Amino acid sequence: MTEPDRSRVIRATDFRWDGVAVREYKDPAPHYRDVSRQTLLGDADTDPALGVQLRYFEVAPGGHSTLERHAHPHAVVVLRGRGEVLLGGCIEPVDSGDCVYVGPHTWHQFLAAPDAPLGFLCVVDRVRDRPVLPSADDLAALRAIPALRDRLRG
Ligand code: MN
Repeated sequence: MTEPDRSRVIRATDFRWDGVAVREYKDPAPHYRDVSRQTLLGDADTDPALGVQLRYFEVAPGGHSTLERHAHPHAVVVLRGRGEVLLGGCIEPVDSGDCVYVGPHTWHQFLAAPDAPLGFLCVVDRVRDRPVLPSADDLAALRAIPALRDRLRG
């Protein structure tokens, strides 16, 4: 039996896509703040032929995503607003249109500017490992990096 053709256009209005639920980023937890998630493409039940998931995350002004790492990479394009990304041992400013590659096992965190959201598309393999949060030893090692010393949140 062939799969039904799921080719489609999903219309956007103000960074909300028709028929796509806006969800909390993850289960409520203290290690992130003010992040929403929309999975645009790649759910196993709707798009089984697609090996990746395309998600849109939006971090509210002053918020941040989890500081984490994992084996799967991220391909990210900033669509809205601006902020910073913690990437390995540095923190880089990012603005709309910028593209970010997060390699395997690299610590990363997305931080919105105090006065602007940070909205971005993120592509991941649909089948992937779970994120790992920093241990106390990991945090101590990250804090030993001068660029990060006073910047670690969450
Ligand atoms: Mn991640």
